[in-house]
Amino acid sequence: MFDDIAELAAQICGTPIALISLVDADRQWFKAKVGVDAQETPREMAFCAHAILQADDVLVVNNALEDERFATNPLVLNNPNIRFYAGAPIVTAEGLPVGTVCAIDRQPKALAPHQLRALQALSRQVSRLFAFRRAAIDHLAQAESALRAREQEAERLMAFTVMDLDLKAFVNHDYRYLAVNAAYQRYWKRDVEQIVGRTVEEVRGRDHFHSRLKRHIDLALSGEASSFEADSLYPGKGMRRMQVRFAPVRTADGAVLGVVIDEHDIQDLADAAQKLRDTITALEKKTLSQQKFIYMLSHDLREPVNTIVNFSGVLRQRLSTGTQAELLRFAEFVHGGGTRLKALLDDLLEYVRLEHQAVRRESVKLCELVEGVVSDLGDAIERTGAQIECDAHLELQCDPHLLRVVIQNLIANGIKFVSPGSLPRIKVMARSLPSSVRLTVQDNGIGIAPEHQAELFQLFKRLHHRKDYEGVGMGLATCRRIIDMHGGSIGVESEPGKGSTFWLELPIGEGSHA
Ligand code: ADP
Repeated sequence: MFDDIAELAAQICGTPIALISLVDADRQWFKAKVGVDAQETPREMAFCAHAILQADDVLVVNNALEDERFATNPLVLNNPNIRFYAGAPIVTAEGLPVGTVCAIDRQPKALAPHQLRALQALSRQVSRLFAFRRAAIDHLAQAESALRAREQEAERLMAFTVMDLDLKAFVNHDYRYLAVNAAYQRYWKRDVEQIVGRTVEEVRGRDHFHSRLKRHIDLALSGEASSFEADSLYPGKGMRRMQVRFAPVRTADGAVLGVVIDEHDIQDLADAAQKLRDTITALEKKTLSQQKFIYMLSHDLREPVNTIVNFSGVLRQRLSTGTQAELLRFAEFVHGGGTRLKALLDDLLEYVRLEHQAVRRESVKLCELVEGVVSDLGDAIERTGAQIECDAHLELQCDPHLLRVVIQNLIANGIKFVSPGSLPRIKVMARSLPSSVRLTVQDNGIGIAPEHQAELFQLFKRLHHRKDYEGVGMGLATCRRIIDMHGGSIGVESEPGKGSTFWLELPIGEGSHA
């Protein structure tokens, strides 16, 4: 455009040279030029430097040689040998002359008034063009900085959406999603396109929207924040406990633009709280059972200890006066008490040890385990004439030492709790169930009344007097503890006088407790 204007100036004035020249402190510089090669000249030589001093008029030099301001100017004396000069100042909108539109000839010359007016018109056009360009550049710069700001905003938003752990959604007045973050997409297993642009009702389902969300969104749209806590099923995450908050988003002038829905996953927190509650309950239960344990223990210990103390006292008193037979009887009482105390302490130790024992599983042949027990109980079997039959040809994963304790207790009880005069007959059987192995120990003993069956597995629970059947009442409690440790269950089926069948089920899988 500036080149065209220079061309027009040359044509209008009929000169071989025309310039659009800008003047600064040291030089004039040619924005556009016709008929010269130079790009700039020092300000001292510049005709234009003179022209701009009279901003509202065209400087005309008809013959430079005759003008004392220019007669010795190198541009006059040498190339381009200027003789004629006409320069119309370019004045900015602020009234500042910054250069000229000028026509130059190597011949002396004069311009008609219409040519001078045309030159002025061209310089005004140049001034306007400058203004337009400046405005365009400013505008562009503004647009660029706005774009940069928006890009930065988008980056921040992106960081926020990628990094944020909470589910965030922005919903407008039509209940339509305008934005959701990455967590939202993750939990809902949907792409952003499957959510943004759709309504909350479409995405979250009609029922949930109307029964729950709409009320809170409406509140937020009216400017009020709200929240609730609920369990929600997320396709990408399963059932989670969530704290859902609704907050109005406002423009600078306070109008509500929409609602931010923030869903904070508190499932882990809820789990931890539940775990803590469970631990407290377990601890309370343990403390209670320990108190009970100590009470029962002191109660059960007292009997043999009393026996020992009392009869050893009597023995000492009667040592010199008592008959041999009397003394022997007292000594036997003392011995009996000591034996019971030892048995009690042995069982107790066995039971207490379980507390810290881990289940070490290995493949165990049940029959071999039973055979081992039968050999351990050899004395009692021989003494009572007991018959033990084993039909347990199964192998299972369990702790052989612990399971042996269980089987030994059950068989020993079967031998012990027989009606006077009858021979104990015990049958050990095993069969596979879909996810467990069921082992039964059946006897032909005295049986157990239904109302007592559940309590037998408690510590120190005995149904009989010691004079009828020996024992400390810890065997079945130990059995239950061991079976619990294996993640199994234990019970009894029995009728008084018709024998008992103790059963236990051990899971085949790894579902055990240490
Ligand atoms: P203990 O054998 O030392 O008495 P247990 O814990 O093994 O202790 O058994 C608790 C009680 O359960 C026994 O005292 C007895 O009354 C009853 N019991 C256990 N096994 C049998 C059985 N096979 N037949 C009848 N009663 C039984």
